[in-house]
Amino acid sequence: MAKKVLIIDDSVTQLSSLKIFFKREGFEVDTAKNGVEGFIKVYKNTPDVIISDVLMPHLGGFQLCRLLKSNKETQNIPFIMLTVLDKNLDKFWASQSGADIFLRKDYEMSEIVNSAKQIIEKMPVCDSVKEELAEYEIEEEEILAQINKILDEELMKTTITNKFREITSYTKDDKIIAESIFKILSAITDYDIACIYFNSPDSSIPKRIIFHEQKVLINEEITKEIWRQMLPDSINDYTEEKINFAKEKNLESISSIDDFLSKKEFDFYYENTLIGKLSLYSRENLRWNKMRFMQTVKSELDLFLRLRYLYTKTCYLSITDELTQLYTRRHLKSVLAQEFERAKRYGTIVTIAMVDIDDFKKINDIYGHMAGDYVLKEVSKIFIKTLRKTDFIYRYGGEEICILMPETLVEKAFIPLERLRKTIENKNFLFEGNKINVTVSIGAATFGKEMRDANELIEKADAALYKSKHGGKNKVTMDV
Ligand code: GH3
Ligand code: MG
Ligand code: MG
Repeated sequence: MAKKVLIIDDSVTQLSSLKIFFKREGFEVDTAKNGVEGFIKVYKNTPDVIISDVLMPHLGGFQLCRLLKSNKETQNIPFIMLTVLDKNLDKFWASQSGADIFLRKDYEMSEIVNSAKQIIEKMPVCDSVKEELAEYEIEEEEILAQINKILDEELMKTTITNKFREITSYTKDDKIIAESIFKILSAITDYDIACIYFNSPDSSIPKRIIFHEQKVLINEEITKEIWRQMLPDSINDYTEEKINFAKEKNLESISSIDDFLSKKEFDFYYENTLIGKLSLYSRENLRWNKMRFMQTVKSELDLFLRLRYLYTKTCYLSITDELTQLYTRRHLKSVLAQEFERAKRYGTIVTIAMVDIDDFKKINDIYGHMAGDYVLKEVSKIFIKTLRKTDFIYRYGGEEICILMPETLVEKAFIPLERLRKTIENKNFLFEGNKINVTVSIGAATFGKEMRDANELIEKADAALYKSKHGGKNKVTMDV
Protein backbone atom coordinates (compact mmCIF):
# COMPACT_ATOMS: atom_id res chain seq x y z
CA MET A 1 0.00 0.00 0.00
CA ALA A 2 1.20 3.52 -0.79
CA LYS A 3 2.69 5.41 2.10
CA LYS A 4 1.02 8.66 3.09
CA VAL A 5 2.95 11.89 3.37
CA LEU A 6 1.50 15.10 4.77
CA ILE A 7 3.29 18.20 3.48
CA ILE A 8 2.69 21.41 5.38
CA ASP A 9 3.92 24.67 3.86
CA ASP A 10 2.51 28.15 3.35
CA SER A 11 4.31 28.56 0.02
CA VAL A 12 2.08 27.31 -2.81
CA THR A 13 5.00 26.76 -5.18
CA GLN A 14 6.94 24.80 -2.59
CA LEU A 15 3.89 22.69 -1.83
CA SER A 16 3.21 21.83 -5.44
CA SER A 17 6.80 20.94 -6.34
CA LEU A 18 7.10 18.67 -3.28
CA LYS A 19 3.73 17.16 -4.09
CA ILE A 20 4.73 16.33 -7.67
CA PHE A 21 7.97 14.77 -6.56
CA PHE A 22 6.48 12.61 -3.82
CA LYS A 23 3.65 11.47 -6.10
CA ARG A 24 6.15 10.44 -8.70
CA GLU A 25 7.86 8.34 -6.02
CA GLY A 26 4.59 6.51 -5.36
CA PHE A 27 3.44 8.33 -2.24
CA GLU A 28 -0.09 9.29 -1.43
CA VAL A 29 0.17 13.04 -0.76
CA ASP A 30 -1.91 15.30 1.42
CA THR A 31 -1.13 18.98 1.92
CA ALA A 32 -1.86 21.74 4.38
CA LYS A 33 -1.14 25.48 4.21
CA ASN A 34 -0.35 26.06 7.85
CA GLY A 35 0.22 24.31 11.18
CA VAL A 36 -3.41 24.40 12.30
CA GLU A 37 -4.68 22.81 9.11
CA GLY A 38 -1.83 20.33 9.28
CA PHE A 39 -2.68 19.38 12.86
CA ILE A 40 -6.30 18.68 11.94
CA LYS A 41 -5.21 16.55 8.98
CA VAL A 42 -2.89 14.50 11.17
CA TYR A 43 -6.02 13.30 12.94
CA LYS A 44 -8.39 13.04 9.99
CA ASN A 45 -6.06 11.34 7.57
CA THR A 46 -3.09 10.17 9.58
CA PRO A 47 0.10 10.17 7.48
CA ASP A 48 3.13 7.89 7.71
CA VAL A 49 5.38 10.91 7.72
CA ILE A 50 4.97 14.66 8.17
CA ILE A 51 7.10 17.14 6.28
CA SER A 52 6.68 20.62 7.63
CA ASP A 53 7.98 24.10 7.00
CA VAL A 54 8.98 26.17 10.06
CA LEU A 55 7.92 29.71 9.27
CA MET A 56 4.17 29.68 8.71
CA PRO A 57 1.28 31.89 9.84
CA HIS A 58 -0.98 30.90 12.81
CA LEU A 59 1.01 27.93 13.98
CA GLY A 60 4.67 27.52 13.01
CA GLY A 61 6.58 24.27 12.51
CA PHE A 62 8.32 24.32 15.90
CA GLN A 63 5.04 24.68 17.80
CA LEU A 64 3.25 22.15 15.60
CA CYS A 65 6.01 19.64 16.19
CA ARG A 66 6.06 20.28 19.93
CA LEU A 67 2.31 19.87 20.05
CA LEU A 68 2.31 16.59 18.14
CA LYS A 69 5.28 15.19 20.03
CA SER A 70 3.77 15.99 23.42
CA ASN A 71 0.59 14.11 22.57
CA LYS A 72 0.70 10.41 23.35
CA GLU A 73 -1.45 9.61 20.31
CA THR A 74 0.62 11.49 17.76
CA GLN A 75 4.13 11.43 19.15
CA ASN A 76 5.26 8.41 17.15
CA ILE A 77 4.49 9.86 13.74
CA PRO A 78 7.81 10.78 12.09
CA PHE A 79 8.29 14.51 11.70
CA ILE A 80 10.67 16.04 9.17
CA MET A 81 11.33 19.72 9.49
CA LEU A 82 12.10 21.39 6.20
CA THR A 83 13.24 24.96 6.28
CA VAL A 84 15.36 27.79 4.94
CA LEU A 85 16.63 28.34 8.48
CA ASP A 86 20.10 26.93 8.92
CA LYS A 87 21.56 28.40 12.11
CA ASN A 88 22.75 26.11 14.89
CA LEU A 89 20.07 27.54 17.13
CA ASP A 90 17.39 26.56 14.60
CA LYS A 91 18.66 23.00 14.52
CA PHE A 92 18.81 22.91 18.29
CA TRP A 93 15.29 24.24 18.56
CA ALA A 94 14.06 21.73 15.99
CA SER A 95 15.47 18.85 17.99
CA GLN A 96 14.13 20.35 21.21
CA SER A 97 10.67 20.51 19.77
CA GLY A 98 11.00 16.82 18.96
CA ALA A 99 11.61 16.79 15.19
CA ASP A 100 13.07 13.51 13.98
CA ILE A 101 14.90 15.02 11.01
CA PHE A 102 15.92 18.56 10.16
CA LEU A 103 16.50 19.31 6.45
CA ARG A 104 17.35 22.45 4.58
CA LYS A 105 15.10 23.47 1.69
CA ASP A 106 17.97 23.72 -0.74
CA TYR A 107 18.55 19.97 -0.45
CA GLU A 108 17.98 17.80 -3.53
CA MET A 109 14.40 16.53 -3.76
CA SER A 110 15.70 12.99 -3.95
CA GLU A 111 17.45 13.47 -0.63
CA ILE A 112 14.25 14.65 0.99
CA VAL A 113 12.33 11.67 -0.36
CA ASN A 114 15.03 9.26 0.78
CA SER A 115 14.97 10.69 4.28
CA ALA A 116 11.20 10.26 4.32
CA LYS A 117 11.48 6.64 3.18
CA GLN A 118 14.11 5.83 5.79
CA ILE A 119 12.25 7.36 8.68
CA ILE A 120 9.02 5.59 7.67
CA GLU A 121 10.87 2.31 7.82
CA LYS A 122 12.40 3.18 11.17
CA MET A 123 9.23 4.52 12.77
CA PRO A 124 6.23 2.86 11.13
CA VAL A 125 2.80 4.18 12.17
CA CYS A 126 0.42 1.30 12.99
CA ASP A 127 -3.03 1.10 11.47
CA SER A 128 -4.54 0.96 14.93
CA VAL A 129 -3.06 4.39 15.70
CA LYS A 130 -4.52 5.77 12.49
CA GLU A 131 -7.95 4.37 13.31
CA GLU A 132 -7.82 5.72 16.82
CA LEU A 133 -6.83 9.21 15.66
CA ALA A 134 -9.61 9.30 13.08
CA GLU A 135 -12.16 8.98 15.88
CA TYR A 136 -11.14 12.32 17.46
CA GLU A 137 -13.06 15.47 16.60
CA ILE A 138 -10.46 18.23 16.54
CA GLU A 139 -11.59 21.86 16.67
CA GLU A 140 -9.37 24.85 16.01
CA GLU A 141 -9.92 26.30 19.50
CA GLU A 142 -8.82 23.06 20.99
CA ILE A 143 -5.48 23.37 19.26
CA LEU A 144 -4.99 26.76 20.82
CA ALA A 145 -5.93 25.40 24.24
CA GLN A 146 -3.44 22.58 23.81
CA ILE A 147 -0.68 24.99 22.86
CA ASN A 148 -1.44 27.10 25.92
CA LYS A 149 -1.34 24.01 28.07
CA ILE A 150 2.08 23.06 26.73
CA LEU A 151 3.36 26.58 27.25
CA ASP A 152 2.00 26.67 30.79
CA GLU A 153 3.52 23.33 31.52
CA GLU A 154 6.92 24.37 30.20
CA LEU A 155 6.72 27.58 32.19
CA MET A 156 5.82 25.68 35.34
CA LYS A 157 8.72 23.28 34.85
CA THR A 158 11.10 26.17 34.32
CA THR A 159 9.72 27.87 37.42
CA ILE A 160 10.26 24.75 39.51
CA THR A 161 13.78 24.39 38.11
CA ASN A 162 14.56 28.02 38.89
CA LYS A 163 13.23 27.67 42.42
CA PHE A 164 15.60 24.77 43.00
CA ARG A 165 18.51 26.71 41.51
CA GLU A 166 17.73 29.57 43.90
CA ILE A 167 18.02 27.28 46.91
CA THR A 168 21.46 26.14 45.79
CA SER A 169 22.68 29.68 45.64
CA TYR A 170 21.54 31.18 48.90
CA THR A 171 22.05 28.83 51.79
CA LYS A 172 23.83 25.89 53.36
CA ASP A 173 21.44 25.58 56.28
CA ASP A 174 19.55 22.26 56.08
CA LYS A 175 16.43 23.57 57.74
CA ILE A 176 16.11 26.54 55.41
CA ILE A 177 16.82 24.26 52.45
CA ALA A 178 14.13 21.82 53.59
CA GLU A 179 11.70 24.66 54.11
CA SER A 180 12.30 25.92 50.58
CA ILE A 181 11.83 22.44 49.14
CA PHE A 182 8.58 22.00 51.07
CA LYS A 183 7.36 25.33 49.74
CA ILE A 184 7.83 24.13 46.17
CA LEU A 185 6.36 20.70 46.91
CA SER A 186 3.33 22.00 48.75
CA ALA A 187 2.58 24.29 45.84
CA ILE A 188 2.14 21.32 43.54
CA THR A 189 0.92 18.43 45.72
CA ASP A 190 -1.64 18.02 48.46
CA TYR A 191 0.32 15.85 50.85
CA ASP A 192 -0.46 15.88 54.57
CA ILE A 193 3.07 15.25 55.77
CA ALA A 194 6.38 15.51 53.95
CA CYS A 195 9.70 14.40 55.40
CA ILE A 196 13.14 14.95 54.06
CA TYR A 197 16.51 13.50 54.98
CA PHE A 198 19.89 14.75 53.79
CA ASN A 199 22.78 12.38 54.25
CA SER A 200 26.14 13.73 55.30
CA PRO A 201 29.57 12.24 54.58
CA ASP A 202 30.49 13.07 58.18
CA SER A 203 29.18 10.14 60.20
CA SER A 204 29.73 11.96 63.48
CA ILE A 205 26.87 14.32 62.63
CA PRO A 206 23.60 12.91 64.03
CA LYS A 207 21.06 11.94 61.40
CA ARG A 208 18.20 14.35 61.09
CA ILE A 209 14.80 14.18 59.43
CA ILE A 210 12.92 17.39 58.78
CA PHE A 211 9.13 17.13 58.71
CA HIS A 212 6.58 19.40 57.14
CA GLU A 213 3.14 19.14 58.71
CA GLN A 214 1.12 20.63 55.91
CA LYS A 215 -2.37 19.45 56.80
CA VAL A 216 -2.14 17.39 59.97
CA LEU A 217 -0.13 17.30 63.15
CA ILE A 218 1.64 14.10 64.08
CA ASN A 219 2.48 12.96 67.58
CA GLU A 220 5.74 11.52 68.88
CA GLU A 221 4.69 7.95 68.15
CA ILE A 222 3.81 8.59 64.51
CA THR A 223 6.94 10.67 64.05
CA LYS A 224 8.96 7.73 65.34
CA GLU A 225 7.16 5.31 63.05
CA ILE A 226 7.85 7.51 60.02
CA TRP A 227 11.46 7.71 61.13
CA ARG A 228 11.57 3.93 61.33
CA GLN A 229 10.16 3.66 57.82
CA MET A 230 12.63 6.15 56.42
CA LEU A 231 15.82 5.22 58.25
CA PRO A 232 15.31 1.87 59.96
CA ASP A 233 18.95 1.60 61.02
CA SER A 234 19.12 4.77 63.02
CA ILE A 235 16.01 4.76 65.12
CA ASN A 236 18.03 5.25 68.30
CA ASP A 237 20.11 7.99 66.86
CA TYR A 238 17.25 10.36 66.61
CA THR A 239 16.94 14.07 65.95
CA GLU A 240 14.00 15.58 64.17
CA GLU A 241 12.64 18.94 63.35
CA LYS A 242 9.16 19.97 62.37
CA ILE A 243 8.20 22.78 60.12
CA ASN A 244 4.65 24.02 60.00
CA PHE A 245 3.96 26.95 57.70
CA ALA A 246 0.32 27.23 58.69
CA LYS A 247 0.43 27.37 62.48
CA GLU A 248 -2.62 29.62 62.72
CA LYS A 249 -4.82 27.13 60.92
CA ASN A 250 -5.27 24.75 63.85
CA LEU A 251 -4.18 21.63 62.08
CA GLU A 252 -5.97 18.43 62.94
CA SER A 253 -4.07 15.76 64.87
CA ILE A 254 -4.16 12.21 63.67
CA SER A 255 -4.04 9.19 65.89
CA SER A 256 -2.32 6.51 63.89
CA ILE A 257 0.01 6.08 60.96
CA ASP A 258 -2.70 3.89 59.41
CA ASP A 259 -4.73 7.05 58.84
CA PHE A 260 -2.47 7.70 55.89
CA LEU A 261 -3.90 5.84 52.92
CA SER A 262 -1.09 6.59 50.54
CA LYS A 263 2.60 7.25 50.68
CA LYS A 264 5.30 8.06 48.17
CA GLU A 265 8.98 7.51 48.83
CA PHE A 266 11.89 8.79 46.81
CA ASP A 267 15.41 7.51 47.43
CA PHE A 268 18.28 9.45 45.95
CA TYR A 269 21.60 7.75 45.35
CA TYR A 270 24.97 8.93 44.20
CA GLU A 271 27.56 6.25 43.42
CA ASN A 272 25.74 3.69 45.60
CA THR A 273 25.52 6.07 48.54
CA LEU A 274 22.12 7.11 49.79
CA ILE A 275 22.36 10.89 49.67
CA GLY A 276 18.82 11.78 50.59
CA LYS A 277 15.23 10.69 50.99
CA LEU A 278 11.85 12.27 50.54
CA SER A 279 8.62 10.75 51.84
CA LEU A 280 5.13 12.10 51.31
CA TYR A 281 2.06 10.91 53.23
CA SER A 282 -1.60 11.55 52.59
CA ARG A 283 -4.92 10.50 54.14
CA GLU A 284 -6.28 10.38 50.62
CA ASN A 285 -5.48 7.71 48.10
CA LEU A 286 -3.32 9.92 45.90
CA ARG A 287 -1.80 8.69 42.66
CA TRP A 288 1.58 10.27 43.12
CA ASN A 289 3.06 9.00 39.89
CA LYS A 290 0.30 10.58 37.87
CA MET A 291 0.80 13.92 39.56
CA ARG A 292 1.93 16.69 37.24
CA PHE A 293 5.47 17.97 37.71
CA MET A 294 6.40 15.16 40.09
CA GLN A 295 9.03 14.05 37.59
CA THR A 296 10.45 17.57 37.38
CA VAL A 297 10.61 17.85 41.15
CA LYS A 298 12.27 14.46 41.36
CA SER A 299 14.98 15.25 38.84
CA GLU A 300 15.61 18.70 40.27
CA LEU A 301 15.82 17.28 43.78
CA ASP A 302 18.19 14.62 42.53
CA LEU A 303 20.49 17.22 41.01
CA PHE A 304 20.23 19.43 44.08
CA LEU A 305 21.06 16.58 46.47
CA ARG A 306 24.08 15.58 44.39
CA LEU A 307 25.43 19.10 44.47
CA ARG A 308 24.78 19.35 48.17
CA TYR A 309 26.40 16.00 48.91
CA LEU A 310 29.49 16.72 46.83
CA TYR A 311 29.82 20.14 48.42
CA THR A 312 29.57 18.78 51.96
CA LYS A 313 31.91 15.95 51.05
CA THR A 314 34.52 18.37 49.75
CA CYS A 315 34.22 20.43 52.92
CA TYR A 316 34.44 17.29 55.03
CA LEU A 317 37.51 15.98 53.20
CA SER A 318 39.31 19.29 53.47
CA ILE A 319 38.97 19.29 57.24
CA THR A 320 39.30 15.57 57.95
CA ASP A 321 42.48 13.55 58.26
CA GLU A 322 42.19 10.40 56.19
CA LEU A 323 44.02 8.00 58.51
CA THR A 324 42.51 8.98 61.84
CA GLN A 325 39.25 10.66 60.76
CA LEU A 326 40.16 13.49 63.13
CA TYR A 327 40.00 17.09 62.03
CA THR A 328 43.10 18.47 60.32
CA ARG A 329 45.61 20.97 61.67
CA ARG A 330 44.48 23.44 59.02
CA HIS A 331 40.97 23.30 60.41
CA LEU A 332 42.29 23.81 63.96
CA LYS A 333 43.97 27.00 62.85
CA SER A 334 40.76 28.62 61.68
CA VAL A 335 38.61 27.34 64.56
CA LEU A 336 41.18 28.27 67.19
CA ALA A 337 41.55 31.79 65.81
CA GLN A 338 37.76 32.23 66.08
CA GLU A 339 37.62 30.79 69.60
CA PHE A 340 40.49 33.03 70.61
CA GLU A 341 38.72 36.13 69.34
CA ARG A 342 35.53 35.10 71.11
CA ALA A 343 37.41 34.60 74.36
CA LYS A 344 39.08 37.99 74.04
CA ARG A 345 35.89 39.82 73.20
CA TYR A 346 33.26 38.08 75.31
CA GLY A 347 35.36 36.55 78.07
CA THR A 348 34.51 32.96 77.08
CA ILE A 349 36.81 30.20 78.22
CA VAL A 350 38.82 27.87 76.02
CA THR A 351 41.30 25.21 76.99
CA ILE A 352 43.48 23.22 74.68
CA ALA A 353 45.40 20.03 75.33
CA MET A 354 48.33 18.73 73.32
CA VAL A 355 48.77 14.97 73.31
CA ASP A 356 51.79 13.04 72.04
CA ILE A 357 52.08 9.27 71.84
CA ASP A 358 55.07 8.08 73.88
CA ASP A 359 57.93 6.32 72.09
CA PHE A 360 55.93 6.05 68.91
CA LYS A 361 59.09 5.70 66.87
CA LYS A 362 59.83 2.47 68.74
CA ILE A 363 56.38 1.09 67.88
CA ASN A 364 57.15 1.73 64.21
CA ASP A 365 60.64 0.29 64.53
CA ILE A 366 59.62 -2.88 66.38
CA TYR A 367 56.27 -3.74 64.80
CA GLY A 368 56.42 -1.87 61.51
CA HIS A 369 54.80 1.19 60.04
CA MET A 370 51.43 -0.55 59.56
CA ALA A 371 51.33 -1.26 63.29
CA GLY A 372 52.05 2.43 63.91
CA ASP A 373 49.17 3.39 61.65
CA TYR A 374 46.91 0.95 63.44
CA VAL A 375 47.83 2.41 66.84
CA LEU A 376 47.16 5.93 65.56
CA LYS A 377 43.74 4.91 64.30
CA GLU A 378 42.78 3.09 67.49
CA VAL A 379 44.04 5.88 69.74
CA SER A 380 41.97 8.36 67.72
CA LYS A 381 38.88 6.19 68.14
CA ILE A 382 39.42 6.19 71.91
CA PHE A 383 39.65 10.00 71.84
CA ILE A 384 36.37 10.29 69.97
CA LYS A 385 34.65 7.83 72.31
CA THR A 386 36.03 9.15 75.58
CA LEU A 387 35.74 12.90 75.15
CA ARG A 388 32.57 14.99 75.10
CA LYS A 389 30.79 15.72 71.81
CA THR A 390 31.54 19.40 72.40
CA ASP A 391 35.31 18.83 72.43
CA PHE A 392 37.03 19.06 69.05
CA ILE A 393 39.87 16.71 68.23
CA TYR A 394 42.56 17.45 65.65
CA ARG A 395 45.51 15.55 64.27
CA TYR A 396 48.16 18.15 64.91
CA GLY A 397 51.20 16.37 63.52
CA GLY A 398 52.42 12.80 62.99
CA GLU A 399 51.45 11.32 66.35
CA GLU A 400 50.41 14.51 68.03
CA ILE A 401 46.78 15.25 68.73
CA CYS A 402 45.29 18.53 69.86
CA ILE A 403 42.00 18.80 71.78
CA LEU A 404 40.03 22.01 71.82
CA MET A 405 37.75 22.19 74.85
CA PRO A 406 35.39 25.14 74.72
CA GLU A 407 33.85 26.44 77.98
CA THR A 408 36.25 24.36 80.04
CA LEU A 409 38.64 25.66 82.71
CA VAL A 410 42.03 24.04 82.86
CA GLU A 411 41.27 22.53 86.30
CA LYS A 412 38.06 20.99 84.97
CA ALA A 413 39.89 19.59 81.96
CA PHE A 414 42.18 17.49 84.11
CA ILE A 415 39.58 14.82 84.92
CA PRO A 416 38.63 13.87 81.32
CA LEU A 417 42.28 14.09 80.19
CA GLU A 418 43.42 11.82 82.99
CA ARG A 419 40.61 9.41 82.12
CA LEU A 420 41.79 9.46 78.53
CA ARG A 421 45.40 8.76 79.53
CA LYS A 422 44.33 5.81 81.70
CA THR A 423 42.03 4.36 79.04
CA ILE A 424 44.88 4.27 76.55
CA GLU A 425 47.32 2.85 79.08
CA ASN A 426 44.89 0.02 79.91
CA LYS A 427 43.80 -0.77 76.37
CA ASN A 428 45.12 -3.89 74.69
CA PHE A 429 46.37 -2.91 71.28
CA LEU A 430 46.59 -6.10 69.26
CA PHE A 431 48.13 -6.00 65.82
CA GLU A 432 48.83 -9.18 63.85
CA GLY A 433 49.14 -11.15 67.06
CA ASN A 434 51.41 -8.62 68.76
CA LYS A 435 50.29 -6.98 71.97
CA ILE A 436 51.47 -3.38 71.86
CA ASN A 437 51.66 -1.16 74.93
CA VAL A 438 50.74 2.41 74.20
CA THR A 439 50.84 5.43 76.49
CA VAL A 440 50.39 9.13 75.87
CA SER A 441 51.73 12.34 77.43
CA ILE A 442 49.42 15.32 77.73
CA GLY A 443 49.85 19.03 78.42
CA ALA A 444 46.99 21.53 78.72
CA ALA A 445 46.61 25.31 79.01
CA THR A 446 43.74 27.80 79.15
CA PHE A 447 43.29 31.09 77.38
CA GLY A 448 44.60 34.05 79.34
CA LYS A 449 43.77 37.72 78.75
CA GLU A 450 47.45 38.58 78.42
CA MET A 451 47.89 36.32 75.37
CA ARG A 452 48.37 38.08 72.06
CA ASP A 453 47.29 35.31 69.72
CA ALA A 454 46.23 31.68 69.55
CA ASN A 455 49.82 30.54 68.99
CA GLU A 456 50.67 31.58 72.52
CA LEU A 457 48.00 29.23 73.83
CA ILE A 458 49.45 26.36 71.82
CA GLU A 459 52.95 27.19 73.07
CA LYS A 460 51.72 27.06 76.69
CA ALA A 461 50.09 23.67 76.14
CA ASP A 462 53.26 22.46 74.38
CA ALA A 463 55.36 23.58 77.34
CA ALA A 464 53.09 21.59 79.68
CA LEU A 465 53.41 18.56 77.38
CA TYR A 466 57.19 18.93 77.50
CA LYS A 467 56.95 18.75 81.31
CA SER A 468 54.97 15.51 81.07
CA LYS A 469 57.60 14.03 78.74
CA HIS A 470 60.45 15.07 81.01
CA GLY A 471 58.62 13.93 84.07
CA GLY A 472 58.74 10.35 82.78
CA LYS A 473 55.95 10.28 80.10
CA ASN A 474 52.46 8.76 80.48
CA LYS A 475 51.39 11.87 82.44
CA VAL A 476 48.97 14.80 82.30
CA THR A 477 50.39 18.26 83.13
CA MET A 478 48.16 21.31 83.50
CA ASP A 479 49.48 24.81 82.98
CA VAL A 480 48.18 26.55 86.10
P1 GH3 B 1 58.42 10.68 72.38
O1 GH3 B 1 57.99 9.72 73.42
O2 GH3 B 1 59.47 11.61 72.85
O3 GH3 B 1 57.27 11.39 71.80
O4 GH3 B 1 59.10 9.81 71.23
P2 GH3 B 1 58.48 9.42 69.85
O5 GH3 B 1 59.25 8.29 69.31
O6 GH3 B 1 57.02 9.22 69.97
O7 GH3 B 1 58.69 10.76 69.04
P3 GH3 B 1 59.35 11.13 67.68
O8 GH3 B 1 58.84 12.50 67.36
O9 GH3 B 1 60.81 10.95 67.75
O10 GH3 B 1 58.80 10.12 66.62
C1 GH3 B 1 57.54 10.19 66.06
C2 GH3 B 1 57.43 9.17 64.98
O11 GH3 B 1 56.12 9.08 64.49
C3 GH3 B 1 58.32 9.48 63.80
C4 GH3 B 1 57.45 9.22 62.60
O12 GH3 B 1 58.04 8.36 61.68
C5 GH3 B 1 56.24 8.58 63.17
N1 GH3 B 1 55.01 8.93 62.43
C6 GH3 B 1 54.55 10.14 62.15
N2 GH3 B 1 53.39 10.04 61.44
C7 GH3 B 1 53.12 8.74 61.29
C8 GH3 B 1 52.09 7.99 60.67
O13 GH3 B 1 51.14 8.53 60.10
N3 GH3 B 1 52.15 6.64 60.73
C9 GH3 B 1 53.17 6.00 61.36
N4 GH3 B 1 53.14 4.68 61.37
N5 GH3 B 1 54.16 6.68 61.92
C10 GH3 B 1 54.17 8.01 61.93
MG1 MG C 1 55.83 10.82 70.48
MG1 MG D 1 56.15 13.64 68.44
